[in-house]
Amino acid sequence: KTAYDLIIIGGGPIGIACGLEAKKNGLDYLILEKGPIVNSLFHYPTNMQFFSSSEKLEIDEIPFISKEAKPKRDEALEYYRRIVTSNKLNMHLFEKVESVKKEANTFTIISSKNKYNSNHIVLATGFYDIPNLLNIPGENLDKVAHYYDNPHYYSGQKVAVVGASNSAIDAALECWRKGAEVTLVIRGDEVGQRVKYWVRPDIINRIEESSIKAYYKSTLVRIEEHSITLQVEGKEISIENDFVLALTGYKPNFHFLEMLGVHISDDDKKLPQYDPESMETNVEGLYLAGVICGGMETHKWFIENSRVHAKLIVKDILSKQSV
Ligand code: FAD
Repeated sequence: KTAYDLIIIGGGPIGIACGLEAKKNGLDYLILEKGPIVNSLFHYPTNMQFFSSSEKLEIDEIPFISKEAKPKRDEALEYYRRIVTSNKLNMHLFEKVESVKKEANTFTIISSKNKYNSNHIVLATGFYDIPNLLNIPGENLDKVAHYYDNPHYYSGQKVAVVGASNSAIDAALECWRKGAEVTLVIRGDEVGQRVKYWVRPDIINRIEESSIKAYYKSTLVRIEEHSITLQVEGKEISIENDFVLALTGYKPNFHFLEMLGVHISDDDKKLPQYDPESMETNVEGLYLAGVICGGMETHKWFIENSRVHAKLIVKDILSKQSV
């Protein structure tokens, strides 16, 4: 089967919420996901704990039971996977959408495995695929990573963590606790204000007691096999280094949005254009859902405040069908 009312691109929590809502309302839908179910969450750090409590990560009011108030990554994988399997959602895994074209009122979707037609599209591709690069010499060395997984790997090593937000601070603390020598490279003059409120005092205390070294107002300018060079308040310093974790955030696939004809604001925020009541973009029949809506402001949307997108979109599609 290749023709649908609705094709949802991206099988993250919000793409799944859209699929569930479409199914409940009798729409003929398909979710296309380029990786496993909730691919982004699968690639989060192994020991990651959400900043949201479990009920705020629930979709369609299906209870999310976790051991602690704030669930761990594994519990979230369990939760979203069970929603997909027990509701028998129509989802193709490991099938990447390569291009989408609109002709008359129909979208043609070409994936890595097939070609489809659909009257409506939901783009729920998140922002976790494309890291913000440092764009400095040495960034392509094997010792540099833009995703952090497990602290064990870094034990006994000199690790520089670039960034001051949740991902960077979690990685710095975990690696230090497993025996790495950690240096934080922070562009501003403090640990990020959005760092989880129960983690922020922990990192500040570790910095103050010199367990973790932090350079503020500093940027990484060069990475070499056994060292890194920082610019700290105008002065260059080099330190010994084994690994660099460049955890400076991620961004949505703007190229993909532009290919689809979605207007993007030409300021730094790069906000995609959509109607917040229906989530429809300037391209009729093309909707946005989930964290992709925030453009470069990737902290604005999360599961708690974007799970409502599913209902808004399906309601809009149904209201147009009944005209
Ligand atoms: P995603 O979960 O990113 O899903 C997008 C999906 O689209 C992915 O599975 C991807 O593989 C797929 N995809 C991309 N391109 C294609 C393509 N071309 N074809 C097919 N599939 C494609 N939010 C919270 O609410 N609470 C938290 O505690 C929280 N903690 C976080 C911790 C970390 C480390 C990070 C990075 C984010 C956190 N977030 C949290 C934000 C969270 O990632 C998002 O809220 C959530 O994943 C958004 O869901 P989504 O469905 O919009 O996007």
